[in-house]
Amino acid sequence: KTSLKKTINQIKSESLASVDWAGTTYEWSSDVNRVLHNVFKINSFRPKQLDAINSTLSGQHALVVMPTGAGKSLCYQLPALIKPGITIVISPLISLMEDQVRSLTIKNIPAKLMTSTSPKEETTAVLNILKDKNTHVKLVYVTPERLAKSKRFMANLQKCYADGRLQRIAIDEVHCCSQWGHDFRPDYKFLGILSNMFPNVPILGLTATATAHVLNDVQKILNIQGCLVIKSTFNRPNLFYKILEKPTSQEGCISILEKLLKYRYKDESGIIYTNSIKDSEDLAEELRKRGLKVGCYHANMEADSRTKVHNKWHEKYYQAIVATVAFGMGIDKSDVRFIIHHTISKSMENYYQESGRAGRDGLRAECVTLYRMQDIFKVSTMVFSSIGSLDHLYGMIKYCLNGRFCRRQLIAEHFDEDWGDTDCNKMCDICCNPNISTREISLENHCRVLSDIIDNAEKCDTKLTAQKLLDAWFLKGPVNLRHKGKEPNFSRILGEDVIAFLLIQGYLVEDFHFTAYSTISYIKKGPNMDAVVDDDYTLKMPVRKYSDFELDRPAPKYFDIENDINADTITTKSVKSMKRSSSSSGEPKSK
Ligand code: ADP
Ligand code: MG
Ligand code: ZN
Repeated sequence: KTSLKKTINQIKSESLASVDWAGTTYEWSSDVNRVLHNVFKINSFRPKQLDAINSTLSGQHALVVMPTGAGKSLCYQLPALIKPGITIVISPLISLMEDQVRSLTIKNIPAKLMTSTSPKEETTAVLNILKDKNTHVKLVYVTPERLAKSKRFMANLQKCYADGRLQRIAIDEVHCCSQWGHDFRPDYKFLGILSNMFPNVPILGLTATATAHVLNDVQKILNIQGCLVIKSTFNRPNLFYKILEKPTSQEGCISILEKLLKYRYKDESGIIYTNSIKDSEDLAEELRKRGLKVGCYHANMEADSRTKVHNKWHEKYYQAIVATVAFGMGIDKSDVRFIIHHTISKSMENYYQESGRAGRDGLRAECVTLYRMQDIFKVSTMVFSSIGSLDHLYGMIKYCLNGRFCRRQLIAEHFDEDWGDTDCNKMCDICCNPNISTREISLENHCRVLSDIIDNAEKCDTKLTAQKLLDAWFLKGPVNLRHKGKEPNFSRILGEDVIAFLLIQGYLVEDFHFTAYSTISYIKKGPNMDAVVDDDYTLKMPVRKYSDFELDRPAPKYFDIENDINADTITTKSVKSMKRSSSSSGEPKSK
């Protein structure tokens, strides 16, 4: 039965997808054009915006998937003004809704907001608007909590629907429905009743989360299986991606960050992401000691101080914010020139969201990630208890270990997209590296050694962390744990890559243990290790090399744009000519 259902949904979505939703001959097309120019003062649509607008005006349920900054809000704000009636907008963050209502009000678009903290009079006013046939209000913003908990709101919404005035329900950050997304909100589950409660009212879900898994889950939860999915490309041509070798000492890390902020990103704005509150505080303090103006931002701070830090960064008093992922949704600064990951993200999904906060103005920006094996365990011990989290993390590690393929290619694969070869334009450390390593090493013998070390440690009743395993392999540390052979004929850092590679390939696995203060990740043999005893077994790993990167020279300012998402603000021609006349080189050169 389920497979039949699946096929029907598939056929449904395929036939919907074959319609030309970007057409300009709909009955509302001229109105749409007029409102775009006269009310929103925008010259032209960005990719897929018109598709979203036409489909929702046709009464279709749809999911709109576009990267952060692509312009999802317009996809429900503009249609709201085309037909009579009210658009309900559900959004998880009050600050985001306040921003939107403010900017709509400036454009003379009547919009109202209702949250669980709204004063009583405002709440009553909004409730009345839902019943009032003569209201001018076109958009009503509401949090999912408010919707789930207010019987009166739902009752009035039903009245609005019965009067034929409920035009559309837009659900922003719709991935919050799904536990597979990175921002699950229990209250979003409640939204599943809407499609049954208000038949024929189109639902428009919007998100920057593009994985098929999450999108399917969202459709199921909202009960709109097989709906149209409108997806714009996730490629951000102006972002330069780079993996940098992370020093083992905090001292070393700070020295890199200092150089980057003082020279490469002098006078530019950015964010430094790290994964713990303590790290964010320590790093910020150390950078300040070195004369840099940086703020710190994490979940344990009062809302007040968070806003202050955010504002100081907006006004360019702070060059950078050292933040945990608490600094996320709601950042609306267009000229962020760098995102540095001091610690890897817990998934590619998260990484893409976080790094995507750079370069919303369409100009060149850099996303630099400091990677070292030790950080795998820093993150894994924090996330391991939730389903699928280790797989997500290992996806991120795969990206870091990559030394051969364009980083965009890996990102595209992750989002089930195909960006082709030409789309990178040398905007990643792999594509701009003239001598990519094609070296491979055979791991089967090393695997056998590692396997022996682990067996031996077990006999000695010792648990091995990855560091201890490496020590024993390189004939360091306690003698009884070492093996009888020779130490590997390569560097320890390549040894680290081998361990990480074996982990993500299932030859090794992490085994988590709890102490009173922390969780420790020990290394055990994984399910794939058994096969290695076979004499014929071969296992190869590509060897990567870190490409050069100048920490102490200004980052290049320009790049060649082929298909920039902000092509209306800056034309290909002007960027190319700026580049020619600029003194900075296109790409970092070797020292
Ligand atoms: P998202 O929700 O996808 O992250 P927003 O809806 O917040 O993005 O839009 C990001 C910015 O892009 C806003 O400042 C918005 O006014 C602007 N924008 C949206 N569509 C267009 C367009 N077609 N042309 C120019 N600017 C646009
Ligand atoms: Mg948005
Ligand atoms: Zn590339």
